[in-house]
Amino acid sequence: MTELRTLKVALLGCGNVGAQVARILIEDADALAARTGARLQLSGIAVRNVNSKRDVELPQELFTTDAETLVKDADLVIELMGGIEPARTLILSALQNGACVVTGNKALLAQDGPTLYEAADKAGVQLSYEAAVAGAIPILRPIRDSLSGDRITRVLGIVNGTTNFILDQMDSTGAQFADALAEAQRLGYAEADPTADVEGHDAAAKAAILATLSFHTRFALENVHCEGITSVSAADIAAAKDAGFVIKLLAIAEKLTDADGGEGVSVRVHPTLLPREHPLAAVRGAFNAVFIEAENAGELMFYGQGAGGTPTASAVLGDLVSAARRLVLGGPQRTETTTGHVPALPIEAATTSYYIGLDVADQPGVLARIAQLFAEHGVSIEIMRQTIHKDAESNTESAELRIVTHRASEAALAATVEAVKGLDVINSVTSVLRVEGV
Ligand code: NAP
Repeated sequence: MTELRTLKVALLGCGNVGAQVARILIEDADALAARTGARLQLSGIAVRNVNSKRDVELPQELFTTDAETLVKDADLVIELMGGIEPARTLILSALQNGACVVTGNKALLAQDGPTLYEAADKAGVQLSYEAAVAGAIPILRPIRDSLSGDRITRVLGIVNGTTNFILDQMDSTGAQFADALAEAQRLGYAEADPTADVEGHDAAAKAAILATLSFHTRFALENVHCEGITSVSAADIAAAKDAGFVIKLLAIAEKLTDADGGEGVSVRVHPTLLPREHPLAAVRGAFNAVFIEAENAGELMFYGQGAGGTPTASAVLGDLVSAARRLVLGGPQRTETTTGHVPALPIEAATTSYYIGLDVADQPGVLARIAQLFAEHGVSIEIMRQTIHKDAESNTESAELRIVTHRASEAALAATVEAVKGLDVINSVTSVLRVEGV
């Protein structure tokens, strides 16, 4: 039997994900070699503190604090430190040295992806980041490779497990946001500082990556309209439930065509109502899923664990084996196609359906006045339901009106809501939420 070539693998970071990657590289060395055609030799692990206790027992001599030297001598570099620096400088240095890089660092890709992609292109090496979106779920490779002969029209993703857990908890127990967040923190689904998750920043970084690959155009974080879930109330959830919807934080990337035939891509993250029978509505707890619509393939859904050391390590190892195979077989490295050149659209240009909750006076003719006002603003109503509430103490009656519109532009909807607020029969606008999947 011919001796297999050895490829040196430098691991940067040995936390939740890095420790599991190191374990699998060592435990499954023979199987990985058989699949790759080369032995993947873990040449060192860069960390901040070589004496920290690790989740996995690993040879102490592998640990170093000198990440720069480790990177210089590697064929493949796995970056799992997180954060912007020194991850960015180390990845650039690895690419310039001709090493292929695997990373799960969505924050860095969202902030400075183009610099990294260009460095990889220039060096003719592979930069892979399957773990950066939806953890264990193979989603970037299917978009980039399997669907490269199709035209993706829309991507809807539940790509943040923390917010999905919180919204699911609110939906199933009736809890307020603060209580559901506290429960998520108690169970380890949310960090002590949950800002990046609950404000939608983590999902926005992933939305930029999904949009970039789906529409062959580089989208940056500033192209993503982002709203988190902190203002979603128990009353919103209850009203949505009553109307047959569930509220999810969705990362959305969709191609839109305006009246003149001009195309653009709307990339956004916001709480969204989905009909309870939509496949994404069944995604419970901290799970992730990505729903894709493509011209020829139709509808596809990818579901699984969006985080966790071992599940995420699976995605990292997949990228590593793929990059290593390329090194063994030779030939050009795979690069992203950026030939789409579709502009990013501002949120005002997005079109979607809306759910609007109104507290109105219980008087004759109210429904007709509201319906007329919607029509005047070019927003057509799909469903309008009225519920009467009687207050026994004050002996008064009020009416709750729930409206679901057909697709309309953000601008038209905003103007409609402003006009509705001005009607003397409106006590308050209780909620305005976007709806998908109707
Ligand atoms: P983590 O548990 O915080 O581990 C980070 C590791 O990097 C630690 O071992 C740390 O060293 C090391 N490190 C940090 N800064 C360093 C520096 N300046 N120099 C040298 N070493 C440094 O992180 P993680 O949860 O494994 O996440 C790693 C990456 O994967 C992040 O980009 C994250 O966004 C991404 N990701 C994570 C998940 C997940 O479920 N955790 C899922 C998808 C993607 P010490 O141990 O010595 O402190």
